[in-house]
Amino acid sequence: MNPSITRLRELDREIVLLNHVSSLLGWDQETYMPEKGIDERAEQLALIGGMIHEKIVSPEIGRLLEELGVSDSEPKGNPELPELDRDFLRAVYRRYRREVRLPTRLVTELSRETSLAQAVWAKARKENDFPAFAPHLERVIALTREKAELLEYEDEPYDALLDEFEPWMKTASVREIFDRLQPALTDLVERIRNASPIDDAFLHIPFPVELQEAFGRIVLSDLGYGPERGRLDVSAHPFTTTLGGDDVRLTTNYSETLFTKGLFGIIHECGHGLYELGFADELKQSTLADGTSCAIHESQSRFWENIIGRSLPFWRHYYPRLVSRFPENLSDVPLERFYRAVNKVEPSFIRTEADEVTYGLHIILRFRLELELFSGTLSVKDLPERWRSESQTLLGISPATDSEGVLQDIHWSLGAFGYFPTYALGNLYAAQFYAAMRKDLPDLDSSIEAGEFHVPLAWLRKRIHAWGVRRTAEELVREVTGEPLDPSYFMRYLEDKYRTIYDI
Ligand code: MG
Repeated sequence: MNPSITRLRELDREIVLLNHVSSLLGWDQETYMPEKGIDERAEQLALIGGMIHEKIVSPEIGRLLEELGVSDSEPKGNPELPELDRDFLRAVYRRYRREVRLPTRLVTELSRETSLAQAVWAKARKENDFPAFAPHLERVIALTREKAELLEYEDEPYDALLDEFEPWMKTASVREIFDRLQPALTDLVERIRNASPIDDAFLHIPFPVELQEAFGRIVLSDLGYGPERGRLDVSAHPFTTTLGGDDVRLTTNYSETLFTKGLFGIIHECGHGLYELGFADELKQSTLADGTSCAIHESQSRFWENIIGRSLPFWRHYYPRLVSRFPENLSDVPLERFYRAVNKVEPSFIRTEADEVTYGLHIILRFRLELELFSGTLSVKDLPERWRSESQTLLGISPATDSEGVLQDIHWSLGAFGYFPTYALGNLYAAQFYAAMRKDLPDLDSSIEAGEFHVPLAWLRKRIHAWGVRRTAEELVREVTGEPLDPSYFMRYLEDKYRTIYDI
């Protein structure tokens, strides 16, 4: 093997290992760390973060990339190198090129301002006090704008922000996709609003949490996620984190009175976890062993949570067992009624609780406001009012408080502008992959009904998971489906599903 590649792989491996150490500290902080551990934990994380940054931008990496023929016009380096090495070089170069442009001063300032802003945001949300948060948000936006300028962009500053979460994607493509998606979603929501409403009251009664957890663990293991390479714990906000190629952990959050929250949370995170556990062995402990973009990651969680987990075949398989565990709640509820209840559509204020039809409209709202903030046409003080009017336009409802509106999400306090679009794009990718999967697996419904989840999983592993970062999102969707991302797959999926559920 080329000695420069060998050395670059060693250096990259150290970065990956440190990232996993950092994830372990983060996982512990969200699950078992005693409250007072936070101050030193923050210092530990900052120290490791600094070490990782130094390693990523080390002059040795810059020199090795140059020796290997990597440049903007040849991001994969010398064309004679093996394909795996060329894919590796593109990923290392992309990371190096971004980070080397950010001075340590800005990275430190952003980290300090966002941890402050996050604390103020949490209090402001609790107390419905947007004015307390506003000056912090202004500072975070100013620093993020500076970051975008330093990172450089082709068309608009938002490109540089989006690129952090959705590598290589352009704002203009997102705009075009959302411009097609929004009227179609609005129209479907309107038709559902005029249909007879679904009664899901029986879901909102007490379900013992220990039984919820036991059921969740059965589903996890059936879906192919087991304790030999994973864990399930509880945290305030569900997440998935990778501590190693064979150690990917999930968390969920149970509600005493709404068992679907914990269960669908588990299935969602399981989708993320299966992706992280599915990278090819040859990618392990390298930067290629990662999700290729936030939207592709979200496509995997949404696929299992919504397309499989809220489908009729899935519940034909599980419902009898669910009823036997919760006879007092469900013995009078026929399967069809249960299936309709877990798919109830209703415009609501909180994004994380939204159904799969209105969800995209929550994202489009945030995308529009982020674009206005970064193009300078919207100021922070006018943000709550813009939120309310845009919510009225898109969802037909306007929140009475900022806690239920502009203050509901943590992302902006963290400076994560450009993240939201990936949630909606994830749904679109999931539906398009699903259409391709159905062509390859004509008996998919019977496999699901029989609980043979290894059938769709094997397909996902081979076509999507195994590739890791070797394929960009755009390359992946073209390879798997033969086409670029097209929102009409998602709309067709929703139309087919909700036509029967709502009889529209
Ligand atoms: Mg997710």
